[in-house]
Amino acid sequence: MTRQALSTSRWFPSGLSDTLTNKHHSQDFNFARSEYLHTRVMFVAMVFALLTPIWAMVDYFIIPGALYSNVLLARALMMGALTLVMLITRRSRISLDKVRHSVALLMLSPALFYLAVLLMLGDYQSHDLAGYSFIPFLLVAFLSVFPLTLLESFGIGMIILLLELISQYKGGLLLTPLGWQDLWLLCTLMAISLWANHSQVSTLMRLYRQASLDPLTGLLNRGVLLESLDQLIAKRKEDREDSGKAAPLTLLMLDLDRFKRINDTHGHSIGDQVLKSFASILRGELRESDIIARYGGEEFIIVLPGTPKSDAMGLAERIRHHCEKTRVYNHQGETVSFTTSIGIAELRGDEAIDAMLLRLDNRLYEAKARGRNCIVAT
Ligand code: GH3
Ligand code: MG
Ligand code: MG
Repeated sequence: MTRQALSTSRWFPSGLSDTLTNKHHSQDFNFARSEYLHTRVMFVAMVFALLTPIWAMVDYFIIPGALYSNVLLARALMMGALTLVMLITRRSRISLDKVRHSVALLMLSPALFYLAVLLMLGDYQSHDLAGYSFIPFLLVAFLSVFPLTLLESFGIGMIILLLELISQYKGGLLLTPLGWQDLWLLCTLMAISLWANHSQVSTLMRLYRQASLDPLTGLLNRGVLLESLDQLIAKRKEDREDSGKAAPLTLLMLDLDRFKRINDTHGHSIGDQVLKSFASILRGELRESDIIARYGGEEFIIVLPGTPKSDAMGLAERIRHHCEKTRVYNHQGETVSFTTSIGIAELRGDEAIDAMLLRLDNRLYEAKARGRNCIVAT
């Protein structure tokens, strides 16, 4: 979870910084977005794949004979590319990068097909063809279907604009009033699509924040943590299948020591202040790619993708020490101190998540038994 996305003050408003790029998106939000993209890519690829043979029949009556077999070949290649998009997408629900590549390939397939037809035209003019010159407009309009960031959408839009310019050049429309009119229409459609992209991503972000963050600390809630763990484990499996190896995955379970006593002595609201302060220590110590969640009342879990247990020990020690020296003030202005106990475990081979959480819990229990304010990793 990114620090920015975790801030509770950023719970509701979703500004341009959320939708321009995915730089500030958490890994978990990326998973959520790739799920949405996945469904839409499959649907649009299917629509395009169905339209392709139907259009081939229309071509039969319209396209000059000499050109028809070449266009048919280009259509067959486009069908191949669309099938590839569906195959890649089917396997890549959890990888945002792969789904983004699918979107690009999905949009580029008809664009390259149109470009190939334009280059094949020779003496013919694009207005000899029916239903081809609107391909750039259709593609730009279809961009609005996807929850893409503005930069992603803009990048694809620029390629489509280039295609329109080539089309105009081939058709002798470039720099003519009709050419300008089409460019104007394309840019307007592009602006509408960008607006739709912004609305989709920001709505997704707002719903995501409401459903996934703990209101007191701004950290992820338990449900999202378990979902993210499932996804990370599935991704590890995918990586192992693809490359034979997978990055390590280490978890920390942290529980505040004698927290009930803090509540009883200083009141519940000071207990809440301690929880907030603890959450901000965790945020400060962790990287953007790490996941921090409030697992229960005063129990937290940190997920460190790509980190072995040996590295996690250093981090745990920094957190433990940071808590020890942090002070919160009660209603009388007196200092309130707190400590934490930490259990650490690294995921083993094909270990199930429940089994790993049980190991973690046992280590935390061991840390409590050893007198609290300590770390247990074995
Ligand atoms: P130990 O060192 O063994 O963990 O002792 P503990 O007192 O921390 O453990 P225990 O589980 O007995 O107490 C947890 C307390 O956390 C009980 C509950 O009232 C309190 N708590 C849970 N959620 C919140 C919250 O949101 N705010 C506040 N102020 N207290 C909470
Ligand atoms: Mg406790
Ligand atoms: Mg507890």
